Amino acid sequence: MRIITAMQNKSDKYVNGRLGNITPIGIVVHSTGCNNPYAKRYVNAPDELGENYYQNWFGGKYSNDVLPHGVIGKGKTDAPVVCQILPFNLPCQGCGSGPKGSYNWLNGKGFIQFEICEDDLKDEKYFNAAFDLAAEFCACLMAQYPTIKLEDIVSHKEANARGYASAHGDPENWLNNYKKDMNWFRDKVAALRKYPEDNPEEGSDIFYKVQVGAFKYRENAEAYLEKLRDAGFDGFITKG
Ligand SMILES: [Zn+2]
Repeated sequence: MRIITAMQNKSDKYVNGRLGNITPIGIVVHSTGCNNPYAKRYVNAPDELGENYYQNWFGGKYSNDVLPHGVIGKGKTDAPVVCQILPFNLPCQGCGSGPKGSYNWLNGKGFIQFEICEDDLKDEKYFNAAFDLAAEFCACLMAQYPTIKLEDIVSHKEANARGYASAHGDPENWLNNYKKDMNWFRDKVAALRKYPEDNPEEGSDIFYKVQVGAFKYRENAEAYLEKLRDAGFDGFITKG
């Protein structure tokens, strides 16, 4: 999946990095709690998202100390995009802490956390697009980190209920508007995870091939292969 990166681990606002690296063991989903659906508000990637002249992006000079790993919001158009602002193996500043500790940092383990940019909570089309993309992002992260279990993809609210986060109600405040909940969200992620190629079995002889064309006449296939080679890709022709 396409991820816009604008790392903030060198920012003065980032202090959790001193704790050391984490093994990601879950995901906390947040929503921002204010009406600004544009990722540029929170992510300093002017070329891809547009300029934030206030410098109040996460990690910016005029930001607070919240610094999640990722942000999902509108890019230059109304279509939501995924941005990464901290390496996934560093502890973020996402959910504060509760009586049992913090999902930001659990002695060398931690939760990957991302914010979804809220709008006025009235645009169902944006709501669906943003949470669809968030589910895709979670499925990608699970493929990358098999240590993440589906039941440990939680909201900030659920993390608080488990005793590992501050008392916030996101993103249920938004989900509830459309009579949805985190089980609905986890089901979305599970549906994206049903393909076995994410977890190939040991010794499996299954391969996934990339095909770029199929031609009736061999000369057309050869001409196309020539184009591929010119573009720097290796390839070969098979008959079928
Ligand atoms: Zn939150």
